[in-house]
Amino acid sequence: MPCVHFLKIFTLSILCSLLVSAITFAQNNEKHYLIKAGQMYDSEKNVFLKNKQILVKGNTILKVGDKLDVPPGTTVLDHGNATVTPGLIDAHTHILFRQGVTEKIAFDGIMNSAETRVLRAVGYAKSYLKAGFTAIRDLGNSEQYLDVEVRNAIDRGDFPGPRMVVSGPIISAMDGQLDGVPVKQFDHYSRKEYSMVSGEEEAKKAVKEHIVRGVDVIKITAIGGRLTMTPEEMKAVVDAAHRERIQVTAHCDRDWAVHAAIAAGVDGLEHGYGFKPTTLDTMAKKKIYLVPTDGSADLSMIFLRSQNLPVDEQAIRKNFQPLYNRIMAAHKAGVMIVAGSDAYVGFDMPRGEQATHTVAGYLDAGLSPADVLKTATFNGSVALGMQGQIGVLKENAMADIVVFNGDMQKDFKKSLFNVKMVMKNGVVEYEK
Ligand SMILES: [Zn+2]
Repeated sequence: MPCVHFLKIFTLSILCSLLVSAITFAQNNEKHYLIKAGQMYDSEKNVFLKNKQILVKGNTILKVGDKLDVPPGTTVLDHGNATVTPGLIDAHTHILFRQGVTEKIAFDGIMNSAETRVLRAVGYAKSYLKAGFTAIRDLGNSEQYLDVEVRNAIDRGDFPGPRMVVSGPIISAMDGQLDGVPVKQFDHYSRKEYSMVSGEEEAKKAVKEHIVRGVDVIKITAIGGRLTMTPEEMKAVVDAAHRERIQVTAHCDRDWAVHAAIAAGVDGLEHGYGFKPTTLDTMAKKKIYLVPTDGSADLSMIFLRSQNLPVDEQAIRKNFQPLYNRIMAAHKAGVMIVAGSDAYVGFDMPRGEQATHTVAGYLDAGLSPADVLKTATFNGSVALGMQGQIGVLKENAMADIVVFNGDMQKDFKKSLFNVKMVMKNGVVEYEK
């Protein structure tokens, strides 16, 4: 009978897949690597250490030390002339979104299908791994939960990519953030990209819906294109999210709009342009981190050259100075700086490499090589809610490890752009 026949095949296929999973699990579980590091960055102590060894078993770091005993069959990876760091973390990105150089911000959502955006994200995810990023936090502009789908596909092993912590649609006031939407279709397209709320009840409901759909973090716009969320709406979001142990971070680029977000109890602030010194002091006191998403002067020049536009290096570096000053002011005030690229402008460069430029830009701002690495490792793990699991090289942490050619302490930028090996979850994902 067809039904019985089908049942037999079905049962057999389940048994086969269980067997394959068990064998794969056993293999992964037993695989040992010993990584010998000429130099290793310790993100907790924020120092570079010479001649360290890292023993990996399966997807976990078993031990870190000077000279380790290893079981037979261990694969030794000798990286004497290199710097070994935890996998990098980009805490603010949008891999489902691309704004062409001459396009309005709404163009992607209006003209490109969900399929186009997801397939494009597959390439962006791979480029992140290749650049040494083993984790990213994706903060919206992903239609309705495409980021959740992409994260799940990477977790299933459908294609390679970094770990993803995702926000789902950004919760905003009734304006979203899009410009370039035809007036009559404003509501349609803005609702496609955002969760626009009015009032505390809608704000709470949006958070619950996000959590049920599987997001890891909530992002709000303290101020969007024009409207601010009310203090009551922001507080409703934060309370509903914190009740479920989910962090909230707020897009905010004006000092006058940030105070309600801080009072509401957000965990982090994105961008942070024009914040006053007193605001930075309050952030430090309340342990609210800042994600400065500036790119870099170098990236701006590459961009201009790609467009065959004139490049005045001195003027560009001068324009960046106020941005750099704000990063250093926040750092000196004791605010935790978290690396975030906000890479969404599309030009001829892999996304991962674009994100690397933002990290390099923090060095131009005046942070030391160790402090820069901290923003993209330890501090990133805090923003992703994965402290102790990623962004550190220590016993029981996940085996997310990057090897950079050269000496990062002495020649930071050259080394940062010269990735030698990337391991994510105990698997070597890239090797040069
Ligand atoms: Zn952004």
